Amino acid sequence: MLAMSDTFRNSLDLLYLLAAVLFIFGLKMLSQVKTARRGNLISSVGMLLAVITTLLLIQQNQLISLIWIVVAIAIGTIAGLLLAFKTPMTGMPQMVAMLNGFGGLASMLVACGDYFTKTGLGLVPEEPWHFALAVGLTVLVGSVTFTGSMIAFGKLQGLKITPGQPVLFRGQKPLNALLLVICAIFVIWLTVEPPAWATIPVIAVIALALGILLVIPIGGADMPVVICLLNSYSGIAGAFAGFVLHNMCLIITGSLVGASGLILTNIMCKAMNRSLGNVLFGGVGFEAAGAGATTSEKGTVRTFTIDDAVITFESASRVMVVPGYGMAVAQAQHVVREMADKLQQRGIVVNYAIHPVAGRMPGHMNVLLAEANVPYEQLLDLDPANAEFEQADVALVIGANDVTNPAARHDKASPIYGMPILDVDKARTIIVIKRSLNPGFAGVENELYFDPKCAMLFGDAKKVVTELSKQLGES
Ligand code: NDP
Repeated sequence: MLAMSDTFRNSLDLLYLLAAVLFIFGLKMLSQVKTARRGNLISSVGMLLAVITTLLLIQQNQLISLIWIVVAIAIGTIAGLLLAFKTPMTGMPQMVAMLNGFGGLASMLVACGDYFTKTGLGLVPEEPWHFALAVGLTVLVGSVTFTGSMIAFGKLQGLKITPGQPVLFRGQKPLNALLLVICAIFVIWLTVEPPAWATIPVIAVIALALGILLVIPIGGADMPVVICLLNSYSGIAGAFAGFVLHNMCLIITGSLVGASGLILTNIMCKAMNRSLGNVLFGGVGFEAAGAGATTSEKGTVRTFTIDDAVITFESASRVMVVPGYGMAVAQAQHVVREMADKLQQRGIVVNYAIHPVAGRMPGHMNVLLAEANVPYEQLLDLDPANAEFEQADVALVIGANDVTNPAARHDKASPIYGMPILDVDKARTIIVIKRSLNPGFAGVENELYFDPKCAMLFGDAKKVVTELSKQLGES
């Protein structure tokens, strides 16, 4: 291995610092829809710079042949491109779960590799305690992130092996606590009793089991919180790996991901009106589909035809569109904007009510509607939207379900009780476009559909809205 000149090392550090600054600016710009695209580009340039700097570092150290790295990059690029092109917008949460998981796994493997290389080659003769501690923590958090994310992926993908409802058993919480304590003991052992390399596989195996056990009791409407938390864990694992490698850029980037993931977790908890502890240990959030009263017991469901809906719009002056997961599935955002244009041409005021957990990923509806060029100022967050519903002549619900269920306000037995909802039932008339009376992600029957002011317009969101738009243009 060649000795690195101070000038060269300093130049690399400067490049890493520049990459980190680009990440910070990019992240800041991502917080606003208008600047988000530029923010993404700036962050990508930062990432490119970080990769080039790392390649220069490897080249200088001659730790591994560049050929291997090029082969790994080629395999990763092909796999990444295939995944990115094949994954539909509705599959993004699963993809995010996968990315979090592989991020955790990569950090864990990097830490193990570095530990065994350095100790094996005698590069860290005294094995400083902070190095061993960083390795132990990376293995712990990285392993939990990996298996936790794989379970989250399975739940979101609807795989039979990972049921969507919470999996609970007696003694679950004490078992999790015990495993965490055992892991902590082994990390301390690794830190204070070098060389205790045998503790590393033990920490990994227990943490892998812990990742599974921590995520199986979470289900239904609570999944957004878990995804954000695992995202944060993957960042924290990356930051610990940065300490192992003495890589400043990785420490900063990992900390940014860890912190922003925690902030998002907090936002999601607020959106669900739940504490993090309640989400992680409450074991609620799902009810078997069809449970509870039957349709006839709850009341009558009114249905509308396209003509009925057009007549309703003809006498309206304010319409609130409420998009949800079904709009994403049907990819109806463009036709929804076209329909809104037709309503506006008639002098009708149109706004969109955006619930923070609508869809299957944070900001899902904002992304789709921005893609369809809906003006940002028409997108109302939960509170401003709820302030508007009383003045709305029509609340047009397009593929949204859980986020409109009034049971969340009063039914203490409901798994979504306490979650703030969009108060669509306060509008004069409610029209719901969906294919059936089937429940949404939380598996809960929606009592909104039995409201006498509500009418169901059954069908695929794209087909129905296209037809509506056509008739609004003609009449
Ligand atoms: P829901 O999952 O509650 O409901 C979506 C509805 O869309 C379904 O009831 C379905 O009814 C309908 N639908 C599906 N396909 C179509 C289609 N082609 N055309 C028309 N309708 C369709 O969605 P919401 O957005 O209201 O709520 C989101 C839920 O997902 C919440 O429970 C949230 O906690 C959870 N979640 C959110 C995440 C996030 O980060 N945002 C991540 C993970 C979960 P039908 O089959 O009858 O058509």
